[in-house]
Amino acid sequence: MAKPFASSADTAPTTEKLEILADGVYALTAEGDPNVGAIEGEDFLVCFEARATPAAARDWLAKLREHSDKPVKYLVLTHYHAVRVLGASAFDAEHILASEATRGLIEERGQEDWDSEFGRMPRLFKQPEEIPGLTWPTETFDTDYRIELGGDRGAIDLKYCGRGHTAGDIVAWHDKSKTLFAGDLVESEAALYTGDAFHFDWSTRTLDAVKSFRAENLVGGRGTIARSAEASDAAIEQTREFLSVMIQHVGHAHKTGGDLKSAFEATHAALAPKFGHWPIFEHCLPFDVQRLWDEFDGIDWPRIWTMERDRDVWAKLQG
Ligand SMILES: [Zn+2]
Repeated sequence: MAKPFASSADTAPTTEKLEILADGVYALTAEGDPNVGAIEGEDFLVCFEARATPAAARDWLAKLREHSDKPVKYLVLTHYHAVRVLGASAFDAEHILASEATRGLIEERGQEDWDSEFGRMPRLFKQPEEIPGLTWPTETFDTDYRIELGGDRGAIDLKYCGRGHTAGDIVAWHDKSKTLFAGDLVESEAALYTGDAFHFDWSTRTLDAVKSFRAENLVGGRGTIARSAEASDAAIEQTREFLSVMIQHVGHAHKTGGDLKSAFEATHAALAPKFGHWPIFEHCLPFDVQRLWDEFDGIDWPRIWTMERDRDVWAKLQG
């Protein structure tokens, strides 16, 4: 029987949980939906990720407002994916920060990504008619950007760690609380989306760079929050294992005369016992395998996902 396309049949609301990781450090998880967070400065807030729509962002802000009424001065976007950026207008942030690589990706493929993600994950797009258009950063940087928080609240360091989940991911590090917002570079008990990824860089030096922070709180893109150095390492290594298993099985099929379908089936069989029950596993894997197959074909720059290409790959692999 054909599986419903991507997450199109996933319509049940999830339960959201706001966690206070340290004084003035907040994260909201939602059973595998994209995580968001915030850190308090002396007289402003820094928010991380914007959700898929302004309405979805307002739901998060309402929960945050139970803890702080400071204005949002900075909105940090870890990468360009629609479900993390299109709610940005709800924050009224003075500064919207992203890497320069992310700005380029929005320019190159932002509209296609919006259309694609809307089709794949319609539940996340609450009141989509309110989205005012593509989200553009007000400031970008190549590798490093520091936000001084004022008082004794420390600073937030935004850092590009190399190519990974996309070409432009950044992480946000708050040294005072040893908290790392890692975006989709790390998933904890959630499947990986790698359709725009650089599997070889990500699974090696990029994750090594993420691990070098020695985070004691690690908020990944989806799933649970790691609340110790050991748990952070485990989340990073789980992410690496997912990538390594993919590389092993897609690579084997590619090198031994297999095709995309046989690569998908071998990878699915290898990952399913450990990862198959995690959120979005079935949804992501066809797109993941297609992108890694392209990398083995020597296609360095990820091809752009469109609604048509999404449906085509799905029909080939999960149809
Ligand atoms: Zn993403």
